[in-house]
Amino acid sequence: MQRKKAVVDAAIARADDERRLLLVLTGNGKGKSSSAFGMMARSLGSGMNVAVAQFIKGRRDTGEEAFFRDLPGVTWHVLGEGFTWETQNRARDIETSERGWAVAKSLLVDPAIHLVILDELTYLLRYGYLDVETVLADIGARPLKQHVVVTGRGAPDALIELADTVTEMRDVKHAFRNGVKAQRGIDL
Ligand code: ATP
Ligand code: MG
Repeated sequence: MQRKKAVVDAAIARADDERRLLLVLTGNGKGKSSSAFGMMARSLGSGMNVAVAQFIKGRRDTGEEAFFRDLPGVTWHVLGEGFTWETQNRARDIETSERGWAVAKSLLVDPAIHLVILDELTYLLRYGYLDVETVLADIGARPLKQHVVVTGRGAPDALIELADTVTEMRDVKHAFRNGVKAQRGIDL
């Protein structure tokens, strides 16, 4: 046990150097965005500055937006406004995505921001609205002390390869399939 403890202690000591991380939260199970917002709470509690970029137009009345948006140290961008999933207007979706990425890029060059959450970014990569190489290069060029969290289903392989920590949420059960609508505090 003593030898084992020495090995574990040495591993912890090695892992202790502070450095920027890229985290990917993907998969079909619930918990991707809420995990990112958990890290946001931790970061803010530690006096860090956090920026959120939401790429898919979801609801604007979520608990996380109401809670975090106006706190000191928080920058909150909703970049998916104008997406045209229904009308299948690809040219317009690409334009919206590129405009959104320009905003995200302004966060990724700002050393005063310690954590950037790119919520639901994976879809823009999957549908080819953004060039994966360009996005990965911009993420890779970020400041040395800036962490990035990317959420969304179907993360492309190149993103997973670049990331330091990747979690795939597995969908075992979801209440929605039993006809339960989204619940305040749990789903929004
Ligand atoms: P959360 O924001 O709750 O962490 P998520 O980011 O993992 O969820 P999204 O794909 O972004 O998942 O979808 C967000 C909404 O869809 C939430 O209301 C969530 O409860 C719901 N949801 C997530 N996964 C599933 C699933 N497998 N089946 C049905 N609904 C889901
Ligand atoms: Mg999500």
